[in-house]
Parts: sequence; C-alpha cells; structure tokens
Amino acid sequence: MESKKIAIAGAGPAGGFSAYLLAKSGMDVHVFEEHGTIGEPVACTGVITGDVLSQRLQLPRELIVNRIAKARIIAPNKEFVEVRLKNDIIIDRAGFDRHITGVAQDAGAKYFTNHRFESFEYANSGSGGKSGKKIMVDVKDKIKNEIRKIETDYLIGADGPISAVAKSAGLFGNRQFYVGLQVTMPVENDNVIDFYPSEEGIAWVVPENEKVARVGIAAKKEANQYFRWFLTAVAGKDYEKKIIGRQAGPIPLYDPGLKSKTKDGRVLLVGDAATMVKAPTLGGINQSLIGAEAAAEAITKNTDYEKLWKKRMGMDLYLSLLMRKAMERFSNEDYNRLVETFAKEKNRTVLESYDRDQPSRFALKLLMREPKLLLFAKKAWF
Ligand SMILES: Cc1cc2nc3c(=O)[nH]c(=O)nc-3n(C[C@H](O)[C@H](O)[C@H](O)COP(=O)(O)OP(=O)(O)OC[C@H]3O[C@@H](n4cnc5c(N)ncnc54)[C@H](O)[C@@H]3O)c2cc1C
Repeated sequence: MESKKIAIAGAGPAGGFSAYLLAKSGMDVHVFEEHGTIGEPVACTGVITGDVLSQRLQLPRELIVNRIAKARIIAPNKEFVEVRLKNDIIIDRAGFDRHITGVAQDAGAKYFTNHRFESFEYANSGSGGKSGKKIMVDVKDKIKNEIRKIETDYLIGADGPISAVAKSAGLFGNRQFYVGLQVTMPVENDNVIDFYPSEEGIAWVVPENEKVARVGIAAKKEANQYFRWFLTAVAGKDYEKKIIGRQAGPIPLYDPGLKSKTKDGRVLLVGDAATMVKAPTLGGINQSLIGAEAAAEAITKNTDYEKLWKKRMGMDLYLSLLMRKAMERFSNEDYNRLVETFAKEKNRTVLESYDRDQPSRFALKLLMREPKLLLFAKKAWF
C-alpha cells in the first residue's frame, strides 16, 4: 500500500488511536499536540464500559483506578433504582492518553508536543477537487514561537470539542455544548456510581476508592451555580477545603440536525471534534475509538468515512440525542416517575443486559415491555 502522509491535530483518545491504526498500516503519521504533557489537563471522569475498550486496546492494570459493579440512578425525590453494570471501569485518564501515545509511537507515529494546529489550506497542485489536493497545515511551535508549514495528504482533526480544524474547514456548524465541571474529593462511599438526573442537568459521584470520588455535573446553563449546590449537598458548606483536584471542559452535543459534517475533502474530524458524544451520559471515549477506526479504514481503503462511522454508531448517537432531547424537557416530577418505572424488575433487567453505549439494542425492547415509556419518549419530539 502506498504510504500517505497524515497530520493529526490532538493527542487525546481520538488522535492517539487514529495515529496507532494508521502508523500500523504503514502511513507516515505526525501528531501535533498543543500541550506540553500528553493527557493534561484532564477534563474527564474516566468512566468507560470495558467491552468496547478491551476489543481495541490492552489496558495496563495500573491505569484502572477502580472497577464498579453497580450504579444508582437517583430521582429528585431521592427514590432510586439500582442497576448492575457489566464491565465498568474507572480509568486514569491522563495515563490512558499517554498509553495510547506509547502504542502509537511504537507503531511508528511521530509526536510533537507544544505544537498547536492553527489553520490549513488546500495546495494549488493536484486534481479532482479538494479530494485530490495536498493540504498545507500551519502548526505553531509554542516553544520557539514560530509557525511551521507542513504538507500532508490527509488532516485529521482530533482536537476536541472546540476543534480548530473543524473551524478551519468550515465544519464547526452551530454546535451546542454542555459545561462539565468536576472535582476529586474525599467522599465515603459504597463503591456504587451515583447519577442524579434533574431539570438542572446531570450530576454524579464516581468512586475512585472507598474514600475518594470524582464529583461532577454537566449542564447547559447556570452550571457554576448548580455545581456549587451539588458540592454543598455532597460534601457540606466547606467543600472548597476538601477539593483534591479540579477537571472541567465543554462537552459537545451530537446533533445531525444541525448539519455539521465530519469530512471535507481529505480533512476528517474524529471524536469530540466531530461531536461523537453519547448525549444522555455525555461519554465520548469509546465513541472516539470507534471514530478513529472508521477514519483509519476510510484512509487506508479509500472509502467513505462518514458512511463508515455512521454505520458503526450513527443510530446509537441518534437515539442518544433523542433521549437527551426528551430529558431536557423533563420536569423533576417526570424524573421521579421515570426512576419509578425503571425500578420495575422487568425494565431493570433490559437495562442491565445491554451496553448503554448501544441504545439501538435495547430502546425498542424497553418500549415494548413498558409502553408507559412512550409518554416520556414523546418529549423528544413535542
Ligand atoms: C467533565 C467531563 C467528564 C467526562 N467524563 C467522561 C466519562 O466518564 N466517560 C467518557 O467516555 N467520556 C467522558 N467525557 C467526554 C470525554 O472526555 C471526551 O469524549 C473524550 O476526551 C474525547 O476524546 P478526543 O480525543 O476526541 O478529545 P480530547 O480528549 O479533548 O483530546 C483533544 C486533544 O487535542 C488537543 N488540542 C486541542 N486543540 C488543539 C490544537 N489546536 N492543536 C493541537 N492540539 C490541540 C487537546 O490538548 C487534547 O489533548 C467527559 C468530559 C468532561 C468535560
């Protein structure tokens, strides 16, 4: 196979996994990461369903901070449903990014930290429209404070939710974001993840061990106020003194209705840069790995990238979007009733037996078993 030059902006899971797969296939891969240390700063809780991950990457044991067997979904009225989880792990997210980097470097990818993608343009030479042209990328070496010009066959934007590549390619669209705010702090717990969905957004307490947890919220508006309220509820008024670490970042909302595309010529967006985030739980690590696989396959086999990733997770992302749209219209009373409905044995069993990354596998089954859920589903449209 002819070796092509690939420039990747961003060394998170999407960029790192794309780099690994492409370098393994013999491509000449260059990864540009704007920060000096890969994986930092962290903006993630690190909850991941192990199945998708383990099919793709061997994770060293020391990167698994905790294993969790149960989650509680707690309604605003404090009633809850407890759901068994199949293979959920809590990872050391910075270590995870560095691990993928190591794997990609072993496969031959070259990494450049402190290098920020600035912009690109299509070269004049080449034929067949944008798809036949080389790409000239401007990358800023932050240490030398100078712009480097890189010529490449493909550019992958794996540069996260505020993707400069997406902006430069005119693919940013009218995307919307949740604000994710999180701290690590001492919280005595029983090693169960607590999720608190409500009108304000979603809040969580995710144990690292019996004494320390990652405590956070994601909300579309008034996130700081909601966060302060939640921290006070979890840790008391003097919560500030207990904070061990802080992690925060925007979470893009997948919405195909906004017409944001993920490809233009030989420029491909992957992961958060392409808004590949499952809306109800706001997780995107597994999705960025699936997106990276599609990007690598599209480049090496010269096939349609958007068709590939949509086939693998488009329906799941779409159903997740409908769930979020419904949830955004829920009142606290709706959440109370929803938790009550899920607490029924027959519904819980469906929830427990399927991967939450793949609502396409359980949504219909759930609706058939519990037609009352249609009343909630209706909120996605009306
Ligand atoms: C508070 C919070 C909690 C979350 N919890 C979870 C969770 O528990 N489970 C889960 O699955 N997902 C979670 N997510 C989402 C998850 O973090 C993302 O979906 C995931 O990181 C996407 O990976 P990525 O590689 O696409 O982007 P990122 O991880 O954002 O990586 C992008 C990389 O690009 C770099 N970069 C940015 N701009 C440039 C540029 N111009 N040039 C060069 N480099 C650049 C960044 O420094 C970064 O290293 C959470 C998000 C937040 C904010």
